[in-house]
Amino acid sequence: MSDGETLLVVLAFLYLSDCFAWLKKGSVAVASAWGGRFGVKTGAGILGNSRGSLLPLNPLPPFGQLYIAHPLPISISPDGICAGNLHSVAPGVSAGPSAAALAFEQVTAVSADGSILRVNKARFAKCGSTAQAAALAELIKASKAAKSHKREHLIREFLGSHLSKKSASKFLVDVRAHVLRLTVLTTPFFLFLFLFVPWMATRTSASTVLIRGAIGAVLLAAAIGFFFYRAHSKLFPRERFERISSLIKMVLCPPMAIQAVNHLTIPLLATFHPVVVISILRPANTKPFIEGFLRRIQFPLAVSISDPVARRVCQWFGELQTELVTRFLQESDPELLKSAISPPAREGKAAGYCPRCLSQYESSSADCPDCPGVKVATFPPPSKSPL
Ligand SMILES: [Zn+2]
Repeated sequence: MSDGETLLVVLAFLYLSDCFAWLKKGSVAVASAWGGRFGVKTGAGILGNSRGSLLPLNPLPPFGQLYIAHPLPISISPDGICAGNLHSVAPGVSAGPSAAALAFEQVTAVSADGSILRVNKARFAKCGSTAQAAALAELIKASKAAKSHKREHLIREFLGSHLSKKSASKFLVDVRAHVLRLTVLTTPFFLFLFLFVPWMATRTSASTVLIRGAIGAVLLAAAIGFFFYRAHSKLFPRERFERISSLIKMVLCPPMAIQAVNHLTIPLLATFHPVVVISILRPANTKPFIEGFLRRIQFPLAVSISDPVARRVCQWFGELQTELVTRFLQESDPELLKSAISPPAREGKAAGYCPRCLSQYESSSADCPDCPGVKVATFPPPSKSPL
């Protein structure tokens, strides 16, 4: 292998290690690989485990754009908090039967440690982002301090901001100029590292190229890091640790500066409800995704949580989220809401259907075997043809 080829392999290895994003189980990615229409992904990554999977990013700038939205990992009611949420946006994710719960009288200390939400100095829940953990810590503190009858208002206000299309749209407008500025720098930097430097290595001595290439790469990465730091300070003023650690990585390992745009966009909409992000970016598979989600929240499964406090908190919070998300969709996309709860096309002799999973049955008297607690619905009688 020639010196130029060896250099190219080393740079490519370093760079490709930064071309993945972690998609937490239950979180929703809205991605566009080549700048075309977005698509929704939930846990479709590689090297996955029970906590999530890696989502590959497009390594070729200026292509590829990714936003990740995280459903709330906890439930909160005027009575207390529970480390689970019945309201799963991604299919097949919900609060487990042993979800921990605490009444507000039992809560003595709340803090956010990175993306970990700590209650009474113990780990309570893993959030999707540091911003989400900080926001939930503040909500729990405010609810704990408030009188019981004022807590519902606080929780409704919090969910209102979580479902604010106006605020999410503003973030998207604000990030545009920063993305453009960084793209103008990262695209030539990518060409410099992966075309110009290896080409130079084939024409002159490797040591000369290494010295000149390293100086050029550090200078360009520092310029990208400077604009990234400035953009990050404006968009995420409280995320100082993330900002500094990303900057250090970019300067010490220049290929990592190429993905600066994704480091800005991935956490941009992390504190908004996935339905808001989908409603703004309009991915190609919006209709089936939102319809499935609506059916799951309109026709929830029987709650399997054993602890009565946890069950009460999760049910209260689940019903409130259903009310607010349904209202949000009623205002932003009423047709989608209507089609989601319409019966499916009748097959053969089917008498009923499950309104949650849409399986069809010849009897309509029992619960759906796949969806405990969801009654099979009867097909409406065929409309009479006009005489
Ligand atoms: Zn079903």
